[in-house]
Amino acid sequence: MLTTIIYRSRLCNSVPFKDIESMVAAASKKNEQENITGILLFNGIHFFQLLEGPEDAVKAIYSAICEDVRHYNVVELLFDYAPARRFGKTGMELFDLREYSEEKVLQAVLNQGTTRYQLTYNDRALQFFSSFVIGTYNANYFEIPPAESWHLIKDESSVSLYPPNEGCTFAFQPIIDPMAGDVIAYEALIRTENGSSPEAFFNHLEGDDIYRADLKSKKTAFAMARMLPLKEKLLSINLLPMTLVKIPDAVNILLDDLAANQIVPEQVIVEFTELEVISNFDEFSAAVKSLKYAGINVAIDNFGAGGGGLLLLSRFQPDRIKIHRDLIENIHKSGPQQSILLAIIHCCRLLEIQISVVGIEKIEEWMWLESAGIEHFQGNLFAPAYLNGLPAIAWPEKKTLF
Ligand code: C2E
Ligand code: MN
Repeated sequence: MLTTIIYRSRLCNSVPFKDIESMVAAASKKNEQENITGILLFNGIHFFQLLEGPEDAVKAIYSAICEDVRHYNVVELLFDYAPARRFGKTGMELFDLREYSEEKVLQAVLNQGTTRYQLTYNDRALQFFSSFVIGTYNANYFEIPPAESWHLIKDESSVSLYPPNEGCTFAFQPIIDPMAGDVIAYEALIRTENGSSPEAFFNHLEGDDIYRADLKSKKTAFAMARMLPLKEKLLSINLLPMTLVKIPDAVNILLDDLAANQIVPEQVIVEFTELEVISNFDEFSAAVKSLKYAGINVAIDNFGAGGGGLLLLSRFQPDRIKIHRDLIENIHKSGPQQSILLAIIHCCRLLEIQISVVGIEKIEEWMWLESAGIEHFQGNLFAPAYLNGLPAIAWPEKKTLF
């Protein structure tokens, strides 16, 4: 199967330009052995490369390229299959954009092409060439510093409670603004009495018992929150949308439980998972109405996972969305994930919807998202969910350079 990969990267400052020619010569030889062909563009700072050949060989070469320390911020822009090679004539050809005009480079690249593609840019891969040469992509390629330029310094905010004796308990995980050094909210995540997962808590329940247990557990969450030093921070809880539909008077029960624990409705966010919302939209709307009347904030959790995300936003605008972890994982390396995130951010800005991202495990993920304008982060990198209390938070701090 003929596979194409296009990536973009940045040359390390420590690598002299004159080394590039010999790098290309070595790459060209290797590519020929592996039956890979390709084109490399260089503009004095960035590389843009198209590789094509048998799938396994292209993947293997690309992983070796990702590990090469002479460049960094490697972002995969395209991974696709094609019926024929675009550049069959060469092992690896280099075009230095500093030496030619835009038109000359584009024409030269086209001239290298095999006949099938020679005269047309009506092909995604070739379109990427023109966007790189003309510079349209530049605004969306963030120059993030290496992960080693940050320390993570743990604070002493950890607090533990005695586990409640009520059939369930909660772990709490902060949502933080790392640059401002602020905690925005804590999310209460349900656990069984012995600390097992939400799945373990729900999976022995059947029918409406699921919803009853979901609602009843919130009383425990609020009681724990009252004992924790949340101060003015927001408190996020998760609910199945059907819990508010199936249990008569559910919102009033929530409000009573809040009042009993001296928590104001405005301090609370109810998170609904996108998939469940999409499949029960009418019921969900009714439930949301009563929450909003009471002053409680609403968030859509796992946004982007249900495939209905954008349709959902057209029908209902929550106070906040939490983006699905699969869109965040390794975002610093993926052009498609980056483009989707930028579109979501743009859309939410226009609608004044707050965004948080969940499941941040790597400094690079955080840095890319921070560069894209995200401010609210939740993830094991900063603080994992902490059973019966609040975890210490690891705050990023820039290393001072000597
Ligand atoms: P969620 O609301 O998306 O919660 C985030 C989940 O991601 C939590 O898993 C959290 O521990 C995990 N997480 C956070 N940061 C990271 C990270 O950096 N890496 C990884 N691998 N995971 C991370 P948890 O606590 O197992 O909860 C799973 C799901 O269970 C929640 O997903 C939520 O949808 C549901 N859930 C939790 N509590 C309740 C509840 O009280 N009621 C209902 N109906 N559902 C709940
Ligand atoms: Mn959640």
